[in-house]
Amino acid sequence: MADNDVDLFVIGAGSGGVRAARIASSYGARVMVAEEFRVGGTCVIRGCVPKKLLVYASRFGHEFEDAAGFGWTVPAAPTFSWPTLIANKDREIDRLEAAYVSTLERFKVELVRSRAVLEDAHTVRLSSGARVHTETILIATGGWPHMGPAIPGIEHAISSNEALHLAELPRRIVIQGGGYIAVEFACIFAGLGSEVTLVYRGENILRGFDDDVREHLCSEMRSRGITITCGHTVTAIEPAGGEFVTRLSDGSAVTADKVMFAIGRRPNVMGLGLEALHVKFHEHGGIAVDDYSKTSVPNIYAVGDVTNRVNLTPVAIREGHAFADTLYGGKPTKVDHAEVPTAVFSEPELGVIGLTEAQARAAFDIVDVYKTSFRPMKATLSGCATRVFMKLLVDGISGRVVGCHIAGPDAGELIQVIGIAVKMGATKADFDATMAVHPTMAEELVTMRERAARHTRAKA
Ligand code: NDP
Repeated sequence: MADNDVDLFVIGAGSGGVRAARIASSYGARVMVAEEFRVGGTCVIRGCVPKKLLVYASRFGHEFEDAAGFGWTVPAAPTFSWPTLIANKDREIDRLEAAYVSTLERFKVELVRSRAVLEDAHTVRLSSGARVHTETILIATGGWPHMGPAIPGIEHAISSNEALHLAELPRRIVIQGGGYIAVEFACIFAGLGSEVTLVYRGENILRGFDDDVREHLCSEMRSRGITITCGHTVTAIEPAGGEFVTRLSDGSAVTADKVMFAIGRRPNVMGLGLEALHVKFHEHGGIAVDDYSKTSVPNIYAVGDVTNRVNLTPVAIREGHAFADTLYGGKPTKVDHAEVPTAVFSEPELGVIGLTEAQARAAFDIVDVYKTSFRPMKATLSGCATRVFMKLLVDGISGRVVGCHIAGPDAGELIQVIGIAVKMGATKADFDATMAVHPTMAEELVTMRERAARHTRAKA
């Protein structure tokens, strides 16, 4: 006998779950959401938001240095307080969590602070033992840092979760990984004054990004004092009097106060009762779903990182919204996972949409490449050696811009806007017909007249 009866039971109050719950409720569904930790999920509690606040903090150091060229006198060594930053960040996260809770209340979604496990396809059991009968279940449990194979001393490694709550700023930190999280945290810690060693197993960081962008970022990060060691992995972490000796696969060792692993995240699927219900999994570990986020069990759906499709907050939100529109709003909606703009909040920042050069050359018979690298105007007086890099990839036959890659200040902001044009199918001629805004960095995107290369695909 169930203690409750709802139309929709959502497991996980993160970005995807909260959006789905409130939209379903606005269509008149009776909705309950279970959350075992904090409302807001990865993005708000231990991901995008706290990370971005740390990114802002990490950039002031350079700003102080740059200011001198513009006539400002700043103390020779401005001081920084990590505990102040963390306390202020935590206060903001508390505020946001409360805002999420009040949104759920406003939309009449019932929030239960509990773990929830599926007993059968229509019954959810809470930690209290109470059971809820539901017509539909939405799994929105997100992902969790994967710590890799059990190397000696792995228990000493932290993930991004702990990095956001350290008691003090590490003087030296080793970060393993070459993806978004490793790169962003390497830049955060370096910007705040830590000595950073990034250990990546492949040839160059950010596999899957455009090769020119990877090279540009790697050299910019090195010029900011980050040691990037490619082709190696961490093989052991040995405690040594309050420090850690990190052994690498080439036999070398790096001593640091903290060792962080950012080697990917895994969908949170364990212990939910999914296997017993024969919910199918994708080979990449996520819950397998169709275009409408439906699993192999007809009344069970899944959105966000737990499906391991495109693991980004705005995508989870779209998936949650589309799910609610489809089931409760009478508007069957698929989410378009193509050409998703994305940013890496490194220093310098990256903004990317569409294909890399390699992907474009594989997809189109003729690919025109436009690229530019220049010293931004601000760097002229500051004396900063940084350069901005921009690249457009154009289908040589239709003229459509199929990829845009930016490395430079506010690249994340720029790519959001460029993303509209690319998504609309804008051609290089459309870009060129747009009047430049002068003087900006972005004007380069509409003034790149000279083709850097034209690649013609060899006929098979
Ligand atoms: P990623 O999947 O982006 O990167 C994982 C990195 O770890 C890769 O460099 C990978 O190498 C390496 N790696 C994987 N397994 C091992 C291993 N066993 N030993 C050594 N290295 C290994 O994961 P992240 O953790 O950086 O981020 C997770 C996801 O979170 C991202 O994919 C992204 O979707 C999201 N995210 C988005 C952000 C944003 O939008 N700005 C910010 C942060 C996270 P290889 O390349 O060789 O596979």
